[in-house]
Amino acid sequence: MIRPTKGKTPRRPVPKKQLNNQKDPVGVYCRVRPLGSEDEECCVEVISNTTIQLHAPDGLKANRNGEFKETQYTFKKVFGLKTTQKELFDDVAKPLVEDLVHCKNGLLFTYGVTGSGKTYTMTGSPGQGGLLPRSLDMIFNSIGPFQAKRFVFKPDDKNGMEVQNQVDALLERQKRESQQSVPKTPSSRQKLDPEFADMISPEDSSKAEGVDEDSSYSVFVSYIEIYNNYIYDLLEDAPFDPIKPKWNGTGTPLRHNTEFIPPQSKILREDQNHNMYVAGCTEVEVKSTEEAFEVFWRGQKKRRIANTQLNRESSRSHSVFIVKLAQAPLDADGDNVLQDKNQVNVSQLCLVDLAGSERTSRTRAEGNRLREAGNINQSLMTLRTCIEVLRENQMCGTNKMVPYRDSKVTHLFKNYFDGEGKVRMVVCVNPNADDYEETMLVMRFAEMTQEVEVARPVDRPICGFAAGRRHRNQAFKEELSRRLEERGGPVDGEPPSALGQLLQSLPQLPPCEISDPADDVTFPRVIECLEKRLKIRQMLTGEYNKAANMLKSMLQDLDGKLISKENFIHDQQGKLGEKDKMIHNQKNEIDRLEKKSKMLEYKIDILQKTTNIYEEDKRVLQHELETREQRLQRELSEKKRMEARMQGFVTDEKLRWQKECERRVNAKELEMQNKLWVKDEKLKQLKAIVTENKTENRPDKPQRPSREKDRAPAKRSASPSPIPTAAPVRPMHRRSHSAGAERWVDHKPLTNVELDTVMQPNVPNAIKVTAPSEKALSKCDKYMLTHQEVASDGEIQTKLIKGEVFKTRGGGQAVQFTDIETLKQETPVAPSRKRRSSENGPNQEQNKDGDWTDVETRCSVAVEMRAGSKVGPGYQHHGYPKRRKP
Ligand code: ADP
Ligand code: MG
Repeated sequence: MIRPTKGKTPRRPVPKKQLNNQKDPVGVYCRVRPLGSEDEECCVEVISNTTIQLHAPDGLKANRNGEFKETQYTFKKVFGLKTTQKELFDDVAKPLVEDLVHCKNGLLFTYGVTGSGKTYTMTGSPGQGGLLPRSLDMIFNSIGPFQAKRFVFKPDDKNGMEVQNQVDALLERQKRESQQSVPKTPSSRQKLDPEFADMISPEDSSKAEGVDEDSSYSVFVSYIEIYNNYIYDLLEDAPFDPIKPKWNGTGTPLRHNTEFIPPQSKILREDQNHNMYVAGCTEVEVKSTEEAFEVFWRGQKKRRIANTQLNRESSRSHSVFIVKLAQAPLDADGDNVLQDKNQVNVSQLCLVDLAGSERTSRTRAEGNRLREAGNINQSLMTLRTCIEVLRENQMCGTNKMVPYRDSKVTHLFKNYFDGEGKVRMVVCVNPNADDYEETMLVMRFAEMTQEVEVARPVDRPICGFAAGRRHRNQAFKEELSRRLEERGGPVDGEPPSALGQLLQSLPQLPPCEISDPADDVTFPRVIECLEKRLKIRQMLTGEYNKAANMLKSMLQDLDGKLISKENFIHDQQGKLGEKDKMIHNQKNEIDRLEKKSKMLEYKIDILQKTTNIYEEDKRVLQHELETREQRLQRELSEKKRMEARMQGFVTDEKLRWQKECERRVNAKELEMQNKLWVKDEKLKQLKAIVTENKTENRPDKPQRPSREKDRAPAKRSASPSPIPTAAPVRPMHRRSHSAGAERWVDHKPLTNVELDTVMQPNVPNAIKVTAPSEKALSKCDKYMLTHQEVASDGEIQTKLIKGEVFKTRGGGQAVQFTDIETLKQETPVAPSRKRRSSENGPNQEQNKDGDWTDVETRCSVAVEMRAGSKVGPGYQHHGYPKRRKP
């Protein structure tokens, strides 16, 4: 299987990043060192294994009133005073080393003010090895037996790694050995420099799990220092000066020459995968912990000397120790490293001891040193700014430019934040109250750093060869040597030649010096011997042939087996290819699904946003609705109030108008009655004239009734009849009749309409006729005609015209009309109708009252008989018609 990407450089190339969207926050750990002496004031309290609390020192509290709060800070883990170097290593650095041997990058740095224990944590002290020596130890414990021969891996000068075969590597080694001393792995720890020997304690060594045994490994270390924003290579050999050699191979000045050569600064470059590296930086291949630490120590010494010589503030420099691990798969035999540069993977672990984070004011630096210190401060400031911008970009989705390039430290580690890898930080704290303010700043930065996320490194694809190659190869070699030993094995020195052995096994030739031509002793002896030899030779040839045949068949056998093995391998390779294809397909499928899920996530996002917008709209509309409802409610109640007021007003007005109407009707009625009376009067006078001519007997002139007298008893009188208070004007001869027993002719023409009024005119003992009848008249002395006509207002008006019956001289009957009674119907006015229609409504009480009032009024009007009127039954009916106009 061919790996898709060539991992020649520490960090993954850009396309890989797109596949990997898992992120981990920067792991921030806090270590609190013990106080320097008992009498120091302490300002840090470890509250739990993740939280510490800062207490403002008393002096500070007194100075600034309440400005200093008791603040708690939380980290991934807090290591208290009693934490051992081993405990810290197990938690913090071990996972990084494990990642390293699995081809993943890591960055570990210590941060804190000067004297807080950064160097102690990173490097350690005698007997108390720090994270660096322990990491180296773990690396070699893990890959020790699988290391490649020196120079098999060869760094190129572009941050890449080349691979060469063992022979070339051997040649190069010999070449270098002749040029200069190549460090040799010390065979035991006793040979170690006593200065650092007990920093690497072999007792509690760790080992990474799951190391790929079918790969070969090589470790390269570099050690650089960044001071005043310049990069110095601490492992660089002094520039070669043939005349005045000043440095020996280990970087120690020669005894005779103490002149110091200032180091040359290095520049940063970007490799083809956009990873940053220090151009021309020494990378030393090391084969053991001891050797690696020795190289580190060499750099350390050089650093110390440079600091002293150049009068530098050592706490103001950053030191970066880079461990590069190159690994490549073994070939199919499991014997040699696969000669394919593309198969070489390089991972790297950077161990950084940062400069003290305190502000310049704290150090008593002057002049140049102050400026330099400022620059260093600047680089930590840039680190803080970068972290802040990164955090903001990640949390707010912004895309601000991270100013990595503003300082060498951040520029060098750009790819850890941009690309992928594991980043961890140990924040060192000195609980001394003098450091309170600086410590507070450190804590704030550290807490913020935890919010930055770095892409999680992805697992590398496994090499296409069968697993267990190294193991099989070793087993094969062991078996071979065992078998060789069994067969007499390779003997020391040159094996005796087959010819020599053969010659030795033949019978010795007898001395065949012939002194006498007739010597018949020597010849036969020689002949006999030669014959014997011939026989042996033939025998040996037979044996040889037999053995050759056997060998041949054995070889054929082996050949067959080899072929079948090859077939098997071919088969397996085919299967592997299929599996590869399957994996490839599945990867594609995963890619597709990932894309789909991203798409869906995006859609969900959009939907969420839309929902939010709608919800917002809904809220606004709901609010508007509520306000409108309130307004409506208000308006409704206002309307109701208005209605009630209007109703009251209307009722008042109606009542007023009703009264007014009644008043007017009465007035009109009276006027009409008067007119009628005048007409009647005229008629009567006319009649009187007519009858006077006949009878010469004249009734008294009828008196117009006094209006006041008439109206006094009732408000609305019946038609004020022009009936005289005395008897008929001229009493005629009347039929004899007993007083009070008048007989009436009730003439109702057929054309009359039946009225449904409650009160009906009724004359007892009357002879009812529909047409004038003389016969009936002859029997009666009173006559009443019910005459109907349509009044001016369109209503039916019934008139009861009454008269007295007289016998005429000619023997007939004549009727003298004496009285007209008017029955009138009125169409009910609106309010009455309304009242009626709501008879069963809620206002029944009021209606009843109204009805009663109405009836009372009606009665007082309708059944009024004038006292003294001798005209018989009659009334004026103002009741409501049950029936409309005919
Ligand atoms: P820095 O590098 O931060 O300036 P150092 O690592 O040089 O600080 O520590 C200053 C002193 O404190 C050293 O003498 C170191 O041995 C001691 N020290 C620091 N941390 C611890 C610790 N956790 N336990 C014991 N001693 C410590
Ligand atoms: Mg230090």
